[in-house]
Amino acid sequence: GREVRLVRRPEGAPVADDFDVVSVPVPTPDAGEVLVRNEYLSVDPYMRGRMIDTKSYAEPYALGAVMTGGAVGAVVRSAAPELPSGTTVVHDYGWREYSRVPAAAATRIDTTVAPASAYLGVLGMPGQTAYFGLFDVAAMRPGDTVFISGAAGAVGGLAGQFARLRGARRVIGSAGSPAKVAYLRDELGFDAAFDYRDGSVREQLRAAAPDGIDVYFDNVGGDHLRAALAAIRPFGRIALCGAISGYNSTTPQPGPDNLVLAVGKRLNLRGFVVYDFADRVPEFEAQVGRWLQDGQVWLRETTVSGVDSAVPAFLGLFDGSNTGKMLVQLAR
Ligand code: NDP
Repeated sequence: GREVRLVRRPEGAPVADDFDVVSVPVPTPDAGEVLVRNEYLSVDPYMRGRMIDTKSYAEPYALGAVMTGGAVGAVVRSAAPELPSGTTVVHDYGWREYSRVPAAAATRIDTTVAPASAYLGVLGMPGQTAYFGLFDVAAMRPGDTVFISGAAGAVGGLAGQFARLRGARRVIGSAGSPAKVAYLRDELGFDAAFDYRDGSVREQLRAAAPDGIDVYFDNVGGDHLRAALAAIRPFGRIALCGAISGYNSTTPQPGPDNLVLAVGKRLNLRGFVVYDFADRVPEFEAQVGRWLQDGQVWLRETTVSGVDSAVPAFLGLFDGSNTGKMLVQLAR
């Protein structure tokens, strides 16, 4: 099997030479473990943070070692009776064709509810991030006007649909191309959307939400956060989910220069990590599984093929080459 290793810590934007794809023997599971032949690998922006040697909420990747990340696949050899061969599982030992996984770290998935890839998107970590970020962290309520940046990506596209389903008055999204703006309006049901490359974020947001916003779900940071602080109404709530506009910068990003608005407007800005909500995943699965089965929520997938495409797919997250969830499909 082949696997992707991190061989150099990126400075600024990662490049292909920071990675290596190597062949290794297919491992044999020890007692209590399973061997999974992966069908889909996930590449995610948070992995950029793990490539630097600084302690964060996720451990840094070791140099010369395989990277890890979300993956789904079928158990092909089992030394764990609870997960026999043929079981489809999701796990966090990705970036490789075959993963040896402790049974306790593999979760059985139900591919009659949704295809396996959905467990890396709608029904997986991005879905949980959108759900808990919107409803808990930002405490979105029916009647709120909600603004979401990075809206054509995995988390943002789901957050926007969840807001609509919970009775938002108006859902506004921003993304980086005209095609993505059309996707937000026509496929995901956003009430308004704009291309942040088209001009000032602040002016475009003001035009889309002349009466202001109540909730901002921040995936981007930078100018977007600044614009949201200007547009948000008193007692507004901001979920700080991510700040991808700064992930590849080599100098610390300054905070928004209008942060003081948070004082007079009595804002609540709250950061979060999806794993904080692990004990509430069953609630998430029940609700979002129902929306999915009723056809009320969906998410495009941008799929590339083969483990050699994992690095370009990852790099593409920073160029916006994905619409919806970015996935790597491996040969069956
Ligand atoms: P996405 O599917 O949204 O992919 C990343 C997207 O970011 C790209 O498609 C691109 O879209 C956009 N982007 C890239 N560079 C910039 C930039 N400079 N300015 C504006 N947009 C940019 O990824 P995810 O849905 O997986 O993640 C979305 C966010 O959520 C990230 O910030 C991530 O770190 C965060 N996150 C946080 C978690 C948590 O627990 N707090 C968990 C999971 C994700 P475009 O074409 O529109 O530019």
